[in-house]
Amino acid sequence: MNSTGWPGTDSRRVGGKVQMNSFTTRLLYTLMPATWYARKDASIRGLLQALAADLTALFEEGLTVTVAGQRKQFFVAFLGCKGDWPWLRKAYNLASCFTSRRVCHLCSGSEWWNMTSSCEARDWRNAEPAPHPYKAGTPSPLRSIPGGDRPSAIKPDLMHTFNIGIGGDFAFSAVITLCCLSFFDDYGSTIQKRLDCAYDRFAQWCFDNHKNAQIKSFELNKFHMTSLKQYPRGTGRAHDTGLVCKWLNAELQGIVPGDFEHPNIMEILQWTLQNFNMFYHLVHGEGLWMPVSVAQRVVQHGFAGGEGFAALASLAKQRGWHLYKLRPKLHIWVHISTMLEKDCTWTSKVLNPLCWGCWSDEDYIGKCCRVARRLNAGSLIVHRVMTRCLMKYKRYFEEGFKP
Ligand SMILES: [Zn+2]
Repeated sequence: MNSTGWPGTDSRRVGGKVQMNSFTTRLLYTLMPATWYARKDASIRGLLQALAADLTALFEEGLTVTVAGQRKQFFVAFLGCKGDWPWLRKAYNLASCFTSRRVCHLCSGSEWWNMTSSCEARDWRNAEPAPHPYKAGTPSPLRSIPGGDRPSAIKPDLMHTFNIGIGGDFAFSAVITLCCLSFFDDYGSTIQKRLDCAYDRFAQWCFDNHKNAQIKSFELNKFHMTSLKQYPRGTGRAHDTGLVCKWLNAELQGIVPGDFEHPNIMEILQWTLQNFNMFYHLVHGEGLWMPVSVAQRVVQHGFAGGEGFAALASLAKQRGWHLYKLRPKLHIWVHISTMLEKDCTWTSKVLNPLCWGCWSDEDYIGKCCRVARRLNAGSLIVHRVMTRCLMKYKRYFEEGFKP
């Protein structure tokens, strides 16, 4: 369990990308070996109660420290909670899920795209939406933190929503689309020859742009397909999704959609790629807080990307192509823009949605796990790992936040 902190006064340093060691931007709150877990999630509940009590005291009473001989009081405000979906569901006792009456924890409204009963993606079951997204029974301790009882405080993570969610599906559906439209037919006309051609061009683009991709070839089974009758999915590598989207954007720059067999698909694909890439270009260019003027552009590109995905799904469906599968994450993607849009109406600086991404947090947890694996301390393991981590903090802070 960790909390993302403020790394000094230079807000541009936290644009979500790991530019500094993650130990300088995160605090380890606690840890527990899996073998210590009590039954029925009692351990997690106990830890959350302690965390909620600490955060409430930090909000109400603050923390007094001595800085350069002067006593200063700092207060901490809770902005939101992030994590992967199973964690958020457990931490907040969320009842909302794809098969529940309340599908989305952020809204109870009807879906924003038209899905008929014949659509392979399932429809929302929200004829009688539940009034709130929480399970009955004792509420999650996190809801007792000042500002914590809003479903909007449960932040959708950009990495899980896009890079290893709809973005992965989109990027590899786009590669298959271009293969089907003979865009990559230098080596031959079979699907694998076209994928080989696409990969070689991708690898060349990565080389030219000094990028490192983890994927080493394009093959149907890497996209979780055995034939073109299955929907492609992302490879599970968040970084690769971003690279493929950037490369495809470069490939389609300057092409004339009218030169292809399905010009409307080409045109929408080109437009959707531009919007997804611009969304990320803008948020990565900003710090912790974005000016409203930038946030408004981010919102437009976010909405347009989601709309483009839905339009491609519809066109693919009309042609009987198994591409661009509609998943609940597309709905969550649109919420990221609606949340930003709402923030733009009442504040001059909007919290960068990259703060809700879990990229650096997963890196940080990995480092703490490595510390734990190197120690053989029996029942003292928690104490020893905490001590080692505090020593690491001391070192990084003394070195002046060096990467
Ligand atoms: Zn919703």
